[in-house]
Amino acid sequence: MPFRSRALAALGLFALAGPALLAQPLPEPVRAIDDRAARYAALADRIWSFAEVGYQEVQSSQALQEELRAAGFTVEAGVGGMPTAFVASYGRGKPVIGILGEFDALPGLSQRAVPTREAIAEGGPGHGCGHHLFGTASAAAAIAVKEWLGKAGRSGTVKFYGTPAEEGGGGKIYLIRAGSFADVDAVVAWHPGDINQVTKATTLANITAKFRFRGVSAHAAAAPEQGRSSLDGVEAMNTMVNLLREHVPQETRIHYIITSGGKAPNVVPDFAETYYYARHSDMRVLDGIWERIVNASKGAALGTGTDVAMEIVNAVYNVLPNDHLAEVAERALRQVGGYQYTPDETRFAETIRRSLTGPLPALESVGTIQAAEVGVSSGSTDVGDVSWVIPTVQVTTATWVPGTPAHSWQAVAAGGMSIGHKGMLVAAKSMALTAIELLTTPSHLVEARAEFEARLGGFEYQNRIGDRAPPLDYRR
Ligand SMILES: [Zn+2]
Ligand SMILES: [Zn+2]
Repeated sequence: MPFRSRALAALGLFALAGPALLAQPLPEPVRAIDDRAARYAALADRIWSFAEVGYQEVQSSQALQEELRAAGFTVEAGVGGMPTAFVASYGRGKPVIGILGEFDALPGLSQRAVPTREAIAEGGPGHGCGHHLFGTASAAAAIAVKEWLGKAGRSGTVKFYGTPAEEGGGGKIYLIRAGSFADVDAVVAWHPGDINQVTKATTLANITAKFRFRGVSAHAAAAPEQGRSSLDGVEAMNTMVNLLREHVPQETRIHYIITSGGKAPNVVPDFAETYYYARHSDMRVLDGIWERIVNASKGAALGTGTDVAMEIVNAVYNVLPNDHLAEVAERALRQVGGYQYTPDETRFAETIRRSLTGPLPALESVGTIQAAEVGVSSGSTDVGDVSWVIPTVQVTTATWVPGTPAHSWQAVAAGGMSIGHKGMLVAAKSMALTAIELLTTPSHLVEARAEFEARLGGFEYQNRIGDRAPPLDYRR
C-alpha cells in the first residue's frame, strides 16, 4: 500500500476500508439499471443516429439533459462558454462524486448497424468511439447513484458532467477552467472498447496546434525575387521537425498535415498552414519537446523571410492513474460481470471479424473481466486533465466485437445494436456500484487523495490551452 496516508491512519479508518459493499448482491438501484435497459438502449440509439460532431452536439446534449432532469437532477447548461456542456447535480453536501459523460461523434465514419461496410450517408459522421454509449451509461449510473442516495438518506452529491468535443475539442479542460470540478472528491468514468477491464494505465499527453506562415505573394515566374513563400516556411519547419525525431525520446509521437499550401503554382503563396500533434506519456517531457517544435517554426520563418503565428487548438494531459480507485472499480466490475452473445449476436460478431486483421481475442471474452490494464495506452483524452485535478478512475467494457479498434466502422456498427447496449449496461452498473462504494466507505476517498498527492509530488496542474476560448468551430 505505497500510498496509504498518515492522515488515514490517524483517523483510524483502516478498519473501515475494504470491499464491504462489494461482497453483497447488487444494490437495488444498480439492479434497476437492467429494468430500464430498453429505455437506455433507445436513448443511446437516438444519440447514435444524431451522430453530432464536437461542439455541435445540440440534440445529443439535450437528450441527456432531459433524461437527467426527468430523474430529478438540477441541470446547469452552457457551462464554460460551451453551449453543449452541462452539469447535472443531485444531493447535498460531501462527498461529491463526479461521473463523466461524452457524446460527440467522428467525421467520416457514417455506418449502418450492420456487420458489413455500409454508410448511412457517404462521408457523414458516425459514433466510431462509442460516445453515444459513454453518455448514456454515465447518465444511467448517475441516476442509480441518485436513487441510492435518496433511499440511504445520506449526505452526498452526484454530479454528471456533460462534456462535449472529446475528440480534439477538449471540452473537459474548459469545464475545469470554469471551476466546475472544484468541490469533487473523485471522478468515475469509462470508455467503450472490446474487452471488460479497469485501467491503471496512463495515456499520451497531446499538444495540438496550427502554425500559420505569412509571406509575400508575387508572380512565381516574372518576379519570384519579390516573393517570400509561406509554403517554404511550412516545408522548412516540417523538415526541421523530421530531423528532430531522431533526438527525442523513442516513445514520442509527432504527426502533421499541411492544411493550406497556396492556391496556384504560379503565385508565390502568401499564406500556408501546417497542423501538428505531438504526444508523449508525460506532459512534463512533452513540454520540452513542444518548445523545440515551436523553435523550429521560428527558425523556419527567419530563414524564409516569413512570419509565423501559432494557435494551440487543443492540449490534453496524459492520464494520472489512481490504483486505489482502480481496485475499488475492479471489484465492482467483477461483481457486475460480463455478458453473453445471443446466436444472432454471435453471427453478427463473426461477420464483423471477417473484416478485422491480427490476432483476435476469443468472442467469449465479453463474458469475462481481464486483469487491469497497466503501462501506457496509445490514445489521448481530455479525461487526462481531469485526472490531474481530481482522483479519477476509468473502466472499459466490451461494447464492440473483440478485436475491433476504436474509430472504425466496425465500432460504429456494433455500437448501434444490442452488443453495444449490453456493454453499455456493464459500464453503467459498474460505475454506479463504484460510486456507491465510494459514498458508503469514504476512507476510499482519503486513500485515493493520498495516492493522488503522492503521484503529483507537488506538481501543480496548469492547462496548456491558456486563455483561449473553446474552439467551438473546430469541426466546421
Ligand atoms: Zn476517440
Ligand atoms: Zn473516445
